Amino acid sequence: MNLILFGPPAAGKGTQAKRLVETRGMVQLSTGDMLRAAIASGSELGLTVKDVLARGDLVTDEIVIALIEDRLPEAEAAGGAIFDGFPRTVAQAEALDAMLEKRGAKIDRVVRLKVDDEALTARIAKRFAEQGRPDDNPDTFKDRLAVYNRQTAPLLPYYEAQGKLVEIDGMGSIDAVSGALDGALA
Ligand code: ADP
Repeated sequence: MNLILFGPPAAGKGTQAKRLVETRGMVQLSTGDMLRAAIASGSELGLTVKDVLARGDLVTDEIVIALIEDRLPEAEAAGGAIFDGFPRTVAQAEALDAMLEKRGAKIDRVVRLKVDDEALTARIAKRFAEQGRPDDNPDTFKDRLAVYNRQTAPLLPYYEAQGKLVEIDGMGSIDAVSGALDGALA
């Protein structure tokens, strides 16, 4: 099964993806994690994207599509991928559909974690205090939310039209959200 975890920054996608990796043996494909790893390694890619992430902007579609394409065989071998933070634009969604189709695969389900902006802002303020991720500072986070609303939210009708979209309440405890997610995947 190939699953997209969908939602605004700090909705809990990474937390739930890691749980599914443990319970179902699926592979988590987080473009945010891949980009941060590139920055940490000091690679050419890392140098290219560092300022973009720090500003809360999106890196180019070309970069993230290539990162994902590289990892598809591994996910396929494991029996499925959890896409976390990808796709974030309609062009990325179309590229993903095309890459999967070429491999005789498809997206089976898109689960949207619904969390209101006030709760997101509070979560990020806490994460910023604890972990100090530069793009979690309150001003940059506002920009990330705006980018989500402008560029990523338009994917909802794209997947709804394909009949793949399921919405769950992302405001509860981690366990409550996990339960709702299991229900959505059953
Ligand atoms: P979040 O905590 O918002 O879920 P991520 O870890 O998914 O954040 O992503 C962090 C940053 O990495 C984004 O703000 C963006 O700059 C970049 N990024 C991650 N995934 C993508 C993508 N699919 N397309 C473009 N940029 C991306």
